[in-house]
Amino acid sequence: MTTTPIPPDHGRSWWLREALALPEFAGEPAPSLDGDTSADVLIVGGGYTGMWTAWFLKQLDPGVDVVLLEQDICGGGPSGRNGGFVSSFWSGLKELCDLFGDQAALRLCLTGEESVRAIGAFLSERGIDAWYRPDGDLGVASSDAQIGEWADLVIATDRLGIGDKFRVLTPAEVRERVDSPVFRGGIASPFGATVQPARLARSLRRVLMESGVRIYEQSPVSRFGVGDPVRAETPRGTVKAGSAVLAINAWAQHWKRFNRLITVRGSYIVVTAPAPEKPAEINWSEGFGRSDHREALHYLRTTPDGRIAFGIGGMQPNLARHIDARYAYDPDAIGVAVDDLHRMFPSFADVPIEAGWGGPIDVSGDHEPFFGTFETGNVHYGLGYTGNGVGPSHLGGQILAHRALGKFDEVLELPLVDVEPRRFPPEPIRSTGALVANHAILRRDRAHDEGREADPLTDFVARLPRRLGFNLGP
Ligand SMILES: Cc1cc2nc3c(=O)[nH]c(=O)nc-3n(C[C@H](O)[C@H](O)[C@H](O)COP(=O)(O)OP(=O)(O)OC[C@H]3O[C@@H](n4cnc5c(N)ncnc54)[C@H](O)[C@@H]3O)c2cc1C
Repeated sequence: MTTTPIPPDHGRSWWLREALALPEFAGEPAPSLDGDTSADVLIVGGGYTGMWTAWFLKQLDPGVDVVLLEQDICGGGPSGRNGGFVSSFWSGLKELCDLFGDQAALRLCLTGEESVRAIGAFLSERGIDAWYRPDGDLGVASSDAQIGEWADLVIATDRLGIGDKFRVLTPAEVRERVDSPVFRGGIASPFGATVQPARLARSLRRVLMESGVRIYEQSPVSRFGVGDPVRAETPRGTVKAGSAVLAINAWAQHWKRFNRLITVRGSYIVVTAPAPEKPAEINWSEGFGRSDHREALHYLRTTPDGRIAFGIGGMQPNLARHIDARYAYDPDAIGVAVDDLHRMFPSFADVPIEAGWGGPIDVSGDHEPFFGTFETGNVHYGLGYTGNGVGPSHLGGQILAHRALGKFDEVLELPLVDVEPRRFPPEPIRSTGALVANHAILRRDRAHDEGREADPLTDFVARLPRRLGFNLGP
């Protein structure tokens, strides 16, 4: 375990601090809600899902009165903390075909691909520099056990006649693109982009404020009344609205309605100091993101000033019944990320680590997001991105905006709409079971990193979620 002290980043991600230091991303201050107000549509949550929903609402009906309530600041949650990988659904094609059938899976992947492009267009049309680079992505095997993990995907694309969308790479070809002693083969895809996630979140916020969306920050919704109108209470005010959209990611586990539909894990990132000469030394030139095929995957990308941002997903510091401070910063998980960064790129061992942070992940049993509407017809929700929401939340915004306005669009016919993922067991089994399985998965990954097999009990427990019908784990 590393002994390098990592600055806790003041409760914010490095991305968000970078963005907030620039006036165009800091934007105008937003008030907290003080008093009673009403709106046509209330949005709870100022991450990408809530903000894309507001944006599509205004696209569909510029006159609609939208209030957005955020407990922190917009982008203070995972939308300003993530790795910045803008992905479509293609890498999950095989599982999507199993869940929804070939045609529905293909429609979803094509629509997700469109979102990746549309996010780039949103930024470029407004001249916003959010470091968007549509260079595709690369999945690598970082241990022998991961070699061929892409076989099911390749077979699925071949069966569907779209085998040209992915390219399997030999170890030498991977190392031409990024040279690490632990990388074996891999698979490259032209889809996917990288972005500075907090610059994206903060520019969305600015565009929304300019278009008349009323944003209240530091305004946590502590009570929510379903009815007509819906009624949200914050510590110093209330909002009544004809309809509402709940875009609250992992915090949804605190809502009775959702607490068996998601379980919460943490993802953590460290960022190095600038070392502009170093990426070229390891053949890293393009902007594409890389990730490996561990269950608790590593994801890594560069920044324009020559840093590496290195993340590790699938971590769980505690029972995760509450999203506490360890989801924003967990020294153990940050230490693991530093050690793994240095194992992957030994030449970065002498580059200081400048920041480390984390955030909660809303894991759904199907490993896919889901969107739905309460029985009353006027409360809509979207969550369960399972650590892959940067691209898909744009689609989520389209779905939720159309739902809130009662307007038809083909996105409402996608298979993620009005499905409920497999339910997790009730408490206390949900959180205890998730923690036990998670630790077995981490031990199994670690054994593979070290070139050994996991012991049979660890392997058995790690595989339990999938044996129980969840699309999670090995
Ligand atoms: C470290 C990390 C790395 C990641 N990397 C990637 C990646 O590279 N690519 C990718 O696709 N995805 C990644 N993800 C996941 C991605 O960030 C999320 O899927 C995405 O941001 C979800 O957006 P959202 O708007 O649904 O949620 P959020 O961004 O979490 O927004 C929800 C908001 O709701 C607010 N809220 C909650 N409850 C209340 C309440 N009661 N009242 C008011 N406000 C409330 C929260 O404060 C929060 O700001 C990562 C996540 C983390 C944590």
